Amino acid sequence: MASKLHLETALMPDGWRQDVVVGIDHGVITSVEEPGDGTAERVSGIALPGLPNLHSHAFQRAMAGLTERRRGNEADSFWTWREAMYHFVDRLGPDDLEAIAAFAYMEMLEAGFTQVAEFHYLHHQPDGRPYDTPNEMSQRIVAAAEAAGIGLTLLPVLYRQGGFLGKPATPAQRRFLCDRDAYARLMETEVPGGATGIAPHSLRAVTLGDLGWAARTWPDRPAHIHVAEQEREVADCLAAHNRRPVDLLLDTIGSDAGRWCLVHATHADAAELGRMAEASAVAGLCPITEANLGDGLFDVPAFLARGGRLGVGSDSLIRISAADELRTLEYGQRLMHRQRNVLAEPARSTGRRLFEAALAGGARATGEERLGGIANGKRADLVVLDQHHPSLVAARDDSLLDGWLFAADNAAIKSVYRRGRVVVRDGRHIARDAIARRYAKTVAALA
Ligand code: ZN
Repeated sequence: MASKLHLETALMPDGWRQDVVVGIDHGVITSVEEPGDGTAERVSGIALPGLPNLHSHAFQRAMAGLTERRRGNEADSFWTWREAMYHFVDRLGPDDLEAIAAFAYMEMLEAGFTQVAEFHYLHHQPDGRPYDTPNEMSQRIVAAAEAAGIGLTLLPVLYRQGGFLGKPATPAQRRFLCDRDAYARLMETEVPGGATGIAPHSLRAVTLGDLGWAARTWPDRPAHIHVAEQEREVADCLAAHNRRPVDLLLDTIGSDAGRWCLVHATHADAAELGRMAEASAVAGLCPITEANLGDGLFDVPAFLARGGRLGVGSDSLIRISAADELRTLEYGQRLMHRQRNVLAEPARSTGRRLFEAALAGGARATGEERLGGIANGKRADLVVLDQHHPSLVAARDDSLLDGWLFAADNAAIKSVYRRGRVVVRDGRHIARDAIARRYAKTVAALA
C-alpha cells in the first residue's frame, strides 16, 4: 500500500515548492522529503490539495439545463424552480439515483473536488412509504461515491414539515419526511472511509425541538443546514419566530456552532454575519447555483473581514467546477462593489486567497481533518494542473492559481489522485466510459 510521488511543483502549507517527494501509506501522506533515489513516481505539473465540495444534491445533476425556460408571464424564481425539481424527483428510483450520483461524483473529481458532502433528502418511495431497506437511497449514494472514488461525507437530511409552524408537507415532499426513529436509522448508514453528519433541512422544514434533538443526539458530527437563502424565507422566519434565521439558528444551537455549516446564509445581515464569524461556523456558499436561482449575494468581504470561514459547494450541480465556483464568488462581489480583486488581501493574489479559504472551510465542514493540505498526516488527495495549458504556460506561483480559476477552468486539470491513487488521467476519469454510459441510459429513460 505504500508509494511515493515526486511532485515537480506543489502548493504546500508554507507556500510553493519545487521537487517534493511525498510518501504515502494507506492513502495518507506519511513523509515529505527531498528527491532521493529516484524510485518515486514522477508527477509533472502543478500539484494542489484537492478541494472539498461542501454541498451537493446529486440527483439534481440530471436536471441541469432543463429549467432555463421562462414558464409564462409570472417571474421565475427559486420557488418555481423548486416545483420543477419536485416534479422531477417524483420519477427517480434507487438505480436512477445511483447512476446519476456516480456521474456527478466522477465529474466532481474531473473538476478538482476530491470530497463531497452530500445533503441527501430523497429517502423514500414516491408515495412516501419507506423502501424495504429503509436506508436504500443512502446506500446508493455510498455506492455511487465508491464507484467514482470520491471521498464522501453523507448528510442524511431531517425533514419534518412543509414549512414554518408545522405547515403540512405537500405530496411532493413525502419522499423527504422522517420521524426521529426513522432518521436515527438513516444515521446508522455505513460510509466506508468517510463520515456521516446531521442535516436538518432548514428552519422551515424542522421544528426548533427537532433541531436541538439532532444536535444533542450526534454531538461530534459535522452539522449542515440551509439557511437564509431566500428573502421570503427571512420574512417567513420573522413572522413565525420574530427573529431572523441565522439569529434563530445560532440562538438554538448555542456554543456548538463551530461544527455547523450554514449553507447559503445569503441574506444574513451585518449583525448575523458577525455572529457567524465569531462562532466559527462555516458559510457554505454555492455561487453558481445561487446565481442560477437568483438567490442574491452573500456579503463575503464583510464576513472575511471579521475572520469568517467559508467553503464552496456545487449544490444544484447546474455546473460542476471548483474553479468556476471560486471565480463566480469573486465576480459576484466585483459586480456588486464595482471593483476588481475584491476578495484578495492587499498586494496578494485573489486566486490564492479564494483557494485557501475554500480548502480550510471545506475541510472543516466535511468533518475530515485529514483534508486541506499537502502535509504529513493529510490525505493524499491531489489535483494536478497542466503547466502547458495556454493560460498557465507563462505563470508561476500564485499566478498559477489565478490562471486556473480565472482563465483556464476545468480544462487545466490534468490528473487527480485520491488517497494516493490516480482517478483522473489526462483530464478524464479512469472509469468515465462505463459511468457515462450508465448515466446516459438513465436520463434517456427518465426523459
Ligand atoms: Zn441545497
